Amino acid sequence: MSKSFVIVGSGPSGFYIADVLSKKLPEAAVDILDRLPNPFGLVRGGVAPDHQGTKNITRQFERTLQRSTVRFLGNVEVGRDVSFAELKTIYDGVIVTIGSPQDRKLGIPGEDLPGVYGSWTFVGWYNGHPAYRDLEPDLSGKGIAIIGNGNVALDVARILAKTPAEMAKADICQHALEAIAASPVEDIYLIGRRGPGDASFTPAELGEFADLERCVALVDKVQIPAELNGDVGTKDDKSRQKNLEILRRLSDNRPGDKPLRLHFLFYAAPLQVLGHGHAQGLRLERTRVDSGRAVHTGEILELPVTTVITAIGYRSVPFPGLPFDENRGVVLNQDGRVEPGVYTAGWCRRGPQGVIPENRADSLAVAKLILEDLEQNQHADRPGPVALDRLLRERGVVVVSYEDWLKINAAETQRAAGEKPREKFARVAEMLTVLNH
Ligand code: NAP
Repeated sequence: MSKSFVIVGSGPSGFYIADVLSKKLPEAAVDILDRLPNPFGLVRGGVAPDHQGTKNITRQFERTLQRSTVRFLGNVEVGRDVSFAELKTIYDGVIVTIGSPQDRKLGIPGEDLPGVYGSWTFVGWYNGHPAYRDLEPDLSGKGIAIIGNGNVALDVARILAKTPAEMAKADICQHALEAIAASPVEDIYLIGRRGPGDASFTPAELGEFADLERCVALVDKVQIPAELNGDVGTKDDKSRQKNLEILRRLSDNRPGDKPLRLHFLFYAAPLQVLGHGHAQGLRLERTRVDSGRAVHTGEILELPVTTVITAIGYRSVPFPGLPFDENRGVVLNQDGRVEPGVYTAGWCRRGPQGVIPENRADSLAVAKLILEDLEQNQHADRPGPVALDRLLRERGVVVVSYEDWLKINAAETQRAAGEKPREKFARVAEMLTVLNH
């Protein structure tokens, strides 16, 4: 009997593993589960809607899905429809690639007030993740603070700043496009607790703020160091040096007459979200950076904002029975091995870091381990897909196959207006309606 694998989570990390396993073991069955009816994880729900080029990677994943031994089973949630323990008895290998689907918390007073959103939630809202379709974030004030100096913070700032015309070719959900266009926001504050040289922006993404239609980026020249500290050797150092050059150019900008200002605010650590019943301000403390760490200086400043979006990183969420490191918010593992027959890769293994190519490398390394372990594997073959199908049928689970997804995909493409590549269905029921379920 041939081997069988189940990959839980259909983002890039899961697909890269499916690709290797299905190529190296052409007889093996590879099932990819996702709790959503659609595949592709963060490529659909995380990558910015105006970065369509990045989303082209799904073509490669579709080729994997076209292999006869690989199946997509959408709308199947581990913990709800099938347990992790059951998967272990059904498949020879269980690979967990569920990403980091939860916002990290700041741990400051006021962060649970209405008007404060984590970027996972907020990005999910504009990208049509069904869990956040009805978020209705309050964008009714003139000031919005975004906390964090990574690419997610830049994504959120840019999506808030662009005009509908600039978003014409983006697959942002209509509900979000309209809410953002209706917002009277005049000032967006992008807040870093350390300095410009410490930001984890990538230069291409930072450079996009140079020339926005209705928004001017403002940087205080005084905050930009003449040089990075130390040698500039690694790729990361070069990237940080480019960031400084871009920020230096932006620091020549003047407010002018554009209706929206994006303020890059460095050396400012969040202390408290102010307000009773709703966010009404953000209190920050000035910092200086000592040996790479933000040190508080005692100088306080307050921003007049009624919306606060945190973009400070994510955590994974375990399902019952999966060993988990609560501190780091990742699956407990040794180089991707969790326990015999169980593996993990991507953000839920390493933490929420790295762009898609970095996760590819991680997945390839874990796939290699799986293949090595398989050679040593003495225990009997497990029943595989037949057993899962029987179980899901008995439980009345509506499974969305790859062919079903193609129908949803076609319907989304067809209903998109103008130059939009698609108008996503942001509710599970809407997707299932396309399939007459
Ligand atoms: P990130 O790059 O790790 O940035 C997180 C930011 O949050 C850092 O600036 C960090 O500051 C800050 N932070 C953490 N805790 C904080 C606190 N308590 N108070 C204030 N600030 C705090 O993570 P990310 O932006 O979520 O991105 C995740 C990964 O996805 C990254 O690898 C990113 O490059 C990638 N991504 C790429 C793209 C793209 O290529 N277009 C788009 C989106 C995301 P410190 O540095 O001081 O800790």
